[in-house]
Amino acid sequence: GSRSYSFMLRTKNPCGKVPTQLYLTMDDLADQFGIGTLRLTTRQTFQLHGVLKKNLKTVMSSIIKSMGSTLGACGDLNRNVLAPPAPLVRKDYLFAQQTAENIASLLTPQSGFYYDVWVDGEKVLTAEEPPEVTKARNDNSHGTNFPDSPEPIYGTQFLPRKFKIAVTVPTDNSVDILTNDIGVVVVSDDDGEPQGFNIYVGGGMGRTHRMETTFPRLAEPLGYVPREEILYAVKAIVATQRDYGRRDDRRYSRMKYLISSWGIEKFRSVVEQYWGRKFQPFHELPEWEFKSYVGWHEQGDGNLFCGLHVDNGRIGGKMKKTLREVIEKYYLSVRLTPNQNIILCDIRNSWKRPMTTALAQAGLLPPRYVDPLNLTAMACPAMPLCPLAITEAERGVPDILKRIRAVFEKVGLKYSESVVIRVTGCPNGCARPYMAELGLVGDGPNSYQIWLGGKPNQTSLARPFMNKVKIQDLEKVLEPLFYHWKCKRQSKEPLGDFTTRLGFEKLQELVDKWKGP
Ligand code: SF4
Repeated sequence: GSRSYSFMLRTKNPCGKVPTQLYLTMDDLADQFGIGTLRLTTRQTFQLHGVLKKNLKTVMSSIIKSMGSTLGACGDLNRNVLAPPAPLVRKDYLFAQQTAENIASLLTPQSGFYYDVWVDGEKVLTAEEPPEVTKARNDNSHGTNFPDSPEPIYGTQFLPRKFKIAVTVPTDNSVDILTNDIGVVVVSDDDGEPQGFNIYVGGGMGRTHRMETTFPRLAEPLGYVPREEILYAVKAIVATQRDYGRRDDRRYSRMKYLISSWGIEKFRSVVEQYWGRKFQPFHELPEWEFKSYVGWHEQGDGNLFCGLHVDNGRIGGKMKKTLREVIEKYYLSVRLTPNQNIILCDIRNSWKRPMTTALAQAGLLPPRYVDPLNLTAMACPAMPLCPLAITEAERGVPDILKRIRAVFEKVGLKYSESVVIRVTGCPNGCARPYMAELGLVGDGPNSYQIWLGGKPNQTSLARPFMNKVKIQDLEKVLEPLFYHWKCKRQSKEPLGDFTTRLGFEKLQELVDKWKGP
């Protein structure tokens, strides 16, 4: 008999920018060739699940023709470059977004292979790149390139593993900056004029259960580069990973393992050789904050933008229909956030009222109530869509959040209290559970490893607290944790800080002895 294969297709949209036509195309494709829903991802892209192999070519060419791209969405090369999605007309934001687009273009595969396969050799993607990007890619003054290859940076071997980059501005940690291979932060002078960048390297989430030699890792400071050098510095970092990252075992091939085995000093000096310059000292920056952008905001150019919370990034049913209508009617451009939400951009003041009515009717704006737990929660797609899933994540998380809310009530925690909760179906960690205050990582059928100790602004790593906690037994662990957090915390101490301060030994004792509040 004939077999059908189901594919999951990801798009690449630097900064999460989605032109109107691309949104409408994705919405159509989900109905025609997918499972009738759109899924927003933690890397500011769409995923289309359930595309059959025989339809893949049609789907890909529709996406490419409407200016999206699937280049670099998968495989051992640079993935979608994150940047804060807010359409704020501010020098630093615009510069961060432009830089993200330039880096994405620098590291896009150059050979025709990807186009040829999908659009009959017709190169329909003609996005012009700025000349400084082409120049940086082709520059071989330090012997960094494969000068005779169609892929001057990647060569024939590409990278040892996927590669992730995020760009942001000071304080805005909507991009989970420290979880990336490279984190780039705009540094401006006192007049708000961007001058250069702080660069972090070596973040990454993925690990393997029961292998202590695999671990999630926070990116660490590498140094400061002046603005005109950024593409060269990024290229030197990528080349270092290309040439020295491990290729013998995929479990250890992310750049974080190279940096942790070499140490940052050696890594820096090798990158400097490829770059031909030296990093300057890191600039001091203010504290990070988590930004969701939900609700109505001024863009700064007279227009408004409106951030909509989408549970688990899954757009379907009435929500999907209304979003499409609103986006089509006002011809809005759209941005996807790294928290799987959506932002409608360039809205005139006069559209605000009719749009509010329509979006509220579809449950996308108040009076719909979003539980504060839900606003910061994330889950990966997991079952039945991801082949690596060991247990449920997206399908299980609504119930898990309800149960956690019930535990909050039982121990007397207020409705406004919140905790960053992230759930994944396997240790690969696509929803970045190791940065959560409470991370649940699938480690068996219906069971989770529990991670504690992240911060609300995503600046520290959680640590594994308990293994193989059955889903039906969650309350046995969470009740004592939340009860003692409520009673013993110092002023407004967040859960993550509280669990770190108390220590896991003490917490384990409290869980073991628990007989109810
Ligand atoms: Fe799949 Fe694991 Fe990623 Fe979830 S975390 S989407 S189960 S690979």
